[in-house]
Amino acid sequence: MAARPQELRLELHCLDRRCGTLLPRGAEICDECGGTALGQIGHNAAVLFGEAGDRPIGFGLAATRPNVIGRASRELDIDLARCPGSESVHRRHAEITAHEGTWSVAHLGRNPLVVSRPAGTVVVQPGTTCELRSGDWLQVGRIRLHFIVGRGARAER
Ligand SMILES: [Zn+2]
Repeated sequence: MAARPQELRLELHCLDRRCGTLLPRGAEICDECGGTALGQIGHNAAVLFGEAGDRPIGFGLAATRPNVIGRASRELDIDLARCPGSESVHRRHAEITAHEGTWSVAHLGRNPLVVSRPAGTVVVQPGTTCELRSGDWLQVGRIRLHFIVGRGARAER
């Protein structure tokens, strides 16, 4: 089956924790933020895909340490400040971790954190944790992110 054009083109992402813009293979600079630290999207243990305005973005998740998601704060691994609707995101909103191959998300904030999958929707209560499966949609405040696990992580949507 032929790959879709987006899969062929957008193989890199900007490694800036505030940017994450998906970039074409061969790119040497992020045309969104000017950063030169770029990585292969498929080399991440897992990826959160989303959109910032009209641009697709992808943030890598490490399996070896907590990945803290929030807005406009230091000590974040993923900063959603540039995404439309980010005022609904807490400074430290959620934390994604991997334990022996099982991923989970912990709710650190107060505004909504919702996990959606074909089997149903889970509203994660503040202070609690929910298991994450590849393909789940994570809603942080009003921002929707697609959680994909594995070396083959691509900008599928
Ligand atoms: Zn960038």
